[in-house]
Amino acid sequence: MEKLSNLASVFWTVWGLHARSGVGTERAARTSASAFVFRRSGCVDDAVNYKAAFRSAVDQVRNEGRYRVFADLKRRCGDFPRATWTRPDGGETDVVVWCSNDYLGQGQNPVVIQAMHEAIDALGAGSGGTRNISGTTRYHVELEAELADLHAKSAALLFTSGYVANEGALATLGKILPGLVIFSDALNHASMIAGIRNSGCARHVFRHNDLEHLEALLKAAPAKAPKLIAFESVYSMDGDVADIAGVVTLAKAYGAMTYLDEVHAVGLYGLRGGGVAERDGVMAEVDIIEGTLGKAFGVMGGYIAAEAEIVDAIRSYASGFIFTTSLPPALAAGAIASVSWLKVHHEVRIAHQARAAALKHRFAEAGLPALESSTHIVPVMVGDPVRCKMVSDMLLTDHGVYVQPINYPTVPRGTERLRFTPTPFHTDAMIHHLVEAMDHLWARCNVARRPAAA
Ligand code: PLP
Repeated sequence: MEKLSNLASVFWTVWGLHARSGVGTERAARTSASAFVFRRSGCVDDAVNYKAAFRSAVDQVRNEGRYRVFADLKRRCGDFPRATWTRPDGGETDVVVWCSNDYLGQGQNPVVIQAMHEAIDALGAGSGGTRNISGTTRYHVELEAELADLHAKSAALLFTSGYVANEGALATLGKILPGLVIFSDALNHASMIAGIRNSGCARHVFRHNDLEHLEALLKAAPAKAPKLIAFESVYSMDGDVADIAGVVTLAKAYGAMTYLDEVHAVGLYGLRGGGVAERDGVMAEVDIIEGTLGKAFGVMGGYIAAEAEIVDAIRSYASGFIFTTSLPPALAAGAIASVSWLKVHHEVRIAHQARAAALKHRFAEAGLPALESSTHIVPVMVGDPVRCKMVSDMLLTDHGVYVQPINYPTVPRGTERLRFTPTPFHTDAMIHHLVEAMDHLWARCNVARRPAAA
């Protein structure tokens, strides 16, 4: 009996699922932990009712109106940012994609595509193993040199994604520097949170972009302990930017290293696309820069760039680097083409910012509540998960506009939004069509507006 009743009170602790499932933030990771811990009487004839537990986990997400449905899209090469959407009834509709992180359309740049074709014809499909065994090709070596040059560091190290780069590098720093204390911005990405957690280090979360709070925490930490400040340059959900120079100044004052995620900035800011740190003239002051090849560079993969000693140590200890098959050579070749092309095409970055400014201006004219970001990311606040999904669904089905709803835990509850990422390829006509559709749906779905700008 006692055994049975023990079994009957199985605890299902699934809160970790969400932290790995989206952007997630330090804040979300903490506030949702309790919400996701639930109890089930999962005992059926001495066996655990696994199915019921999985269904219950999904029901919880569904009941909160944030069950994710993926749109079945086929991008059309050469027709960026248009795509074909396969509807649930199997029919097809033309749509304009307004939420891609292929921020500059590099995924369809002929230079990138040609480089990938050539590499696949020359070397075949996969890399053949981990870097250690047989997965280092000429392309991997050249790409690391290209990335080190982009960030004016002496070395760079490739990972299979930006997520893996953050998780691998941060977890490893904790192992290389015993007693390391990590200071983490409250809105850091899920991959940084995972890395920091796996590092096993003491962790202090500072209020988002709040340098006074960061300084108070640095001051309170043991003076002799090694320290690391982990933060992002462009925060992808609000589109706001860190004061990198301010963080660097504090880091120097308190003897800390800096780790900067430039995932939403590489390729996009700075004269050669080195990111916000390049634009702000502080790239040399940041110890470790982390980036992705999957967003503005239009391909896939992640990396860190730093001085050779740091890179070599992470290369030698990071599980997420050592024990996984390396990127296919064709991806590395495409990334080399993309990074080197963007270094010398600053006009694309200027056009990108101009499109973002045009969209923000039109939203403001229409009284649509866009956040006042200074970047290419244009979030429009809905403030309710059900309405947010409704507007997003209607934009897709009735207006041929694809933009995903952004809900908790990616953003805090009550700040649900649509996140637009205009590219240099979004025309005036596309902007006009979008704003008309939004204006109509805002009225139809009764979403709050802001007074129209003069
Ligand atoms: N860092 C930040 C801030 C991100 O937003 C993301 C992904 O969206 C990542 C890291 C992970 O990059 P990747 O998509 O290359 O895995």
